[in-house]
Amino acid sequence: ALSPAEHIWMDGRLVAWDEAKVHVLTQSLHYGWAVYEGIRAHPTTDGGLAVFRLRDHLARLVRSARVYQMDIPYSADELAAATTELIAAGGGGPRYVRPLVYLGYGSMGVALDLSAVRVTLAAWAWEDQPARSWRLMTSSWRRNHQDTIPPLAKATGAYLNSSLAKLAALRAGYDDALMLTSAGHLSEGSAANVFVVRSGVLHTPPVQDGILPGITRATVLDLARAAGIPTLERPLAHAEAYTADELFVTGTAIGVVPVESLDDRPTALPAPGPVTAALRDAYQDAVTGKNTPSADWLTPCR
Ligand code: PMP
Repeated sequence: ALSPAEHIWMDGRLVAWDEAKVHVLTQSLHYGWAVYEGIRAHPTTDGGLAVFRLRDHLARLVRSARVYQMDIPYSADELAAATTELIAAGGGGPRYVRPLVYLGYGSMGVALDLSAVRVTLAAWAWEDQPARSWRLMTSSWRRNHQDTIPPLAKATGAYLNSSLAKLAALRAGYDDALMLTSAGHLSEGSAANVFVVRSGVLHTPPVQDGILPGITRATVLDLARAAGIPTLERPLAHAEAYTADELFVTGTAIGVVPVESLDDRPTALPAPGPVTAALRDAYQDAVTGKNTPSADWLTPCR
């Protein structure tokens, strides 16, 4: 839940939650020109709290900002320190962190004043959702095309597309949308990457096909390889999702979520199938420090 008791980091200063305001002529509000991240701090087996793959999230933030020609006036070290301080000040439980790089008050017009880069970090309490499987709907909204709004950058404006798809899926009674590329290949959910399991092989669309390179996606691919599960990043035809033994989606906010059906067609195996369940457990063990393959995936907050 959003928590007015907390502070928000704005351009290097901690500001009371209710005072974290911007001018109505903030450029990003008018043109959707901003980039962001979604990061989580999970409780760890040693009783603490650790941010999962903080460096990788901040590196993606910098890359997203580069696509949109914004120079972030803080180093990754400064942003990492601000993130862990903010979490430590938050009083214990698991947290979601939202860094945002945007264009503040400046000139007004499509030519954009790119010198007005502002950075903010907010954190709030975040509990794991109860484990369940999702029903997906193929969206009639296609994913942003590579040549219009590149999906590899996590830009706020790109989420017009995600929210159109998500709202339509929810209205139709599904949990999320599965979006196709303009070529008709599988791309991703509204805010999650998609995986297909068939005959024991894990398939997921490649970044070149127009997806966000998800940190959870990369983690799951690593964990699968470590478990001896063959992985393939390749373009996937829409109908391959209908012939899947198992389907699942991944994201920082949701973790690994089994998918039970697409367009009311159930997967061949009931969800969660064995590969999905194994990867979901391995992911949980990685974020909590129970079994984390790489020490630098966890940044302790206190
Ligand atoms: N795709 C989109 C469009 C997303 O918004 C997200 C959530 N950030 C993901 C995939 C999953 O990415 P990650 O695992 O890094 O959270």
